[in-house]
Amino acid sequence: MSQHHKSTRADRAARKQYRAECAEADLPCWLCHLPIDYAAAWDDWTNNDRFQRDHFYPASTHPELYDDPENWRPSHAGCNERRGNSDAVGGLGILSRQWAPTL
Ligand SMILES: [Zn+2]
Repeated sequence: MSQHHKSTRADRAARKQYRAECAEADLPCWLCHLPIDYAAAWDDWTNNDRFQRDHFYPASTHPELYDDPENWRPSHAGCNERRGNSDAVGGLGILSRQWAPTL
C-alpha cells in the first residue's frame, strides 16, 4: 500500500468540499469550541482563526484514516498547530499510547 498524504488532487478537492460543508453548518472549532472565520482564505497565514481540517486520529499514528471523512474535524489553524506541537489534546484520551500509569 502506498502512503499518499498531502496535496493529491483528490485530497485538495475533498478538503475544499469539507470546508464548504463546515462553513454551511457554521461548525465551531472542535478543539476550543469557538467560531471559525470561514471568510478567511486558507492561505491567510496571519489569521489563526481561519479554517483548517484537523484529524481526530492524527495521520502520524493512523495514516489509514487520513482520507476518511469520519476522521475529519473542523479546527482553527492556530489550534491545529498548537495541537500538532503538543501532540495531545488534554483529557480526550485519543492517543493509543499513553503515559505509564501513576499507580
Ligand atoms: Zn480553536
